[in-house]
Amino acid sequence: MKVHFGCPAGCFRSWPVALTLRCLVLSVLLSPGAPAEEPRQDSVGQYIDTGTLLLQDSCWKVVRQDVTADRGRIKLHNNRWLMFFVHWRPLKATAHLTFEYARDHMLNFWGPAMPFTLSGGENEIEVAGHRALVINGTIYEGRIATRFIVWNCPETGRQFTADCNVNLARGTPPSLLDVQQAIAGGVRCHAPYAVAGGTAFPEHFLSNEWGVSLSVPDKWHTEKFASKEWFPDGITYTSGSLWTLLTTSEKRLDLRWQRSDDEVSAAEFRWFLHELPADSAVVRDSTLTLQVYLDTVFSREAFLEGTGSLRYSRSLDDRTYESHYRFDAILWKDVDRLFFLMASLVSIDEFWGLPVNLVVSDEMVSRFLWDEIVPQTKTFNSAGGK
Ligand SMILES: [Zn+2]
Repeated sequence: MKVHFGCPAGCFRSWPVALTLRCLVLSVLLSPGAPAEEPRQDSVGQYIDTGTLLLQDSCWKVVRQDVTADRGRIKLHNNRWLMFFVHWRPLKATAHLTFEYARDHMLNFWGPAMPFTLSGGENEIEVAGHRALVINGTIYEGRIATRFIVWNCPETGRQFTADCNVNLARGTPPSLLDVQQAIAGGVRCHAPYAVAGGTAFPEHFLSNEWGVSLSVPDKWHTEKFASKEWFPDGITYTSGSLWTLLTTSEKRLDLRWQRSDDEVSAAEFRWFLHELPADSAVVRDSTLTLQVYLDTVFSREAFLEGTGSLRYSRSLDDRTYESHYRFDAILWKDVDRLFFLMASLVSIDEFWGLPVNLVVSDEMVSRFLWDEIVPQTKTFNSAGGK
């Protein structure tokens, strides 16, 4: 069975129980909060414009640097995890929407294995013309921040709950809870459901069958939460859940160089690629292995570009835990040094035992490399790269 490293959000949900137990074990072993090496921005800054990277995305962290003129290795990691649900259930006659009701609703929604601690900051907003109550809480000693937004939809006889979560221990900005609240504010729970155009977020989800629509930001992905436990006969108009996850929850930048008399070649490209250490910013363990799959290498003017995938794996208690990435990398020469730059994105097709389409396309990885990373790579640009 494949389980994504670190169980970024799985540790705070009780479902399925067996997986949660594994996550609890892993949360000890996989050090999601492992301290980064002491950053020396002045050294890294000669090669990567980290200031601009951070301005664009504050989640970037320098996790490795070994920098000399002759050879060097820099690794940056960008990690965040959020999970946004929209649940709907039959509206009970007793569901009088008070803050007391909403608190109790949150504390009991996921059952006793989900021991939320209320954290105040209660509020009231409007969703689709309905009064909605906002309740905040935390779990796992504050590592996860959760916000419930609850409203009743008498038009359809349903109660809706927006269940917003960020994993603070993974460095996720708490402000992403506010983004999830904004998404909740755009949920449509009764007709008209159409969401195309005119909404704050570009990605739209609409189900006329289930009578719900919402819009989410770019690279956030919404699909049904097909829990066999909750919905043994499948999701229906009266009872269902959608979950929204972040496609690019982990991003990596690896820059390496070496003084060399050799010219840019496919052989040099492969050498840099297969010299990648089996380490991870999330998992630091000697049992971690890395397999590299190179799909293609091609020339672009004076440099080479190649794409492929990475598979990190480790065994624990007779199970194999894997984490998959897609990468796009380039090799170029600047005077007497060969430089190798790799950009990679995590690619997830299963979570909590459910299929989930967080698989990244080659186009996404390419855009990440060329639009986000390359412009901040000083040596590539100074060498007259693209
Ligand atoms: Zn409604």
